[in-house]
Amino acid sequence: MNCIFCEIVKGNIETDAIYEDDKIIAFNDQNPQAPVHFLVIPKEHISSANEINSANASIIGGIYAAVAKLAKEMGFAEDGYRIVNNCGNDGGQTVHHIHFHVLAGRSLQWPPG
Ligand code: AMP
Ligand code: ZN
Repeated sequence: MNCIFCEIVKGNIETDAIYEDDKIIAFNDQNPQAPVHFLVIPKEHISSANEINSANASIIGGIYAAVAKLAKEMGFAEDGYRIVNNCGNDGGQTVHHIHFHVLAGRSLQWPPG
């Protein structure tokens, strides 16, 4: 399987890393859409939100807990932010290893395009 985010987890592709624990890593998006734009991914390969189940759901909870911690530490918790998970073609998912975009640092528009 050729998964770019698994290669990042293995350390074979360098990133601008901002957080790591035993289950997840976070790194800055290479094509930022806001002053703050990073991705949080599980180390385990989960293809998309369609593959979340009772066995791996706690990893997803851990991702949200890490985002809450990072938002406070990085100083954007009060102003607010957006967590985005694109799923499948209609959702605009281009990397098929589940990831959560965290966007902050400007007023974000709604609805998304
Ligand atoms: P999505 O369209 O939701 O699948 O988002 C994939 C995201 O991964 C895009 O925002 C890309 O800019 C980002 N991305 C892809 N490869 C890398 C990489 N090597 N380092 C950082 N971000 C990446
Ligand atoms: Zn993967």
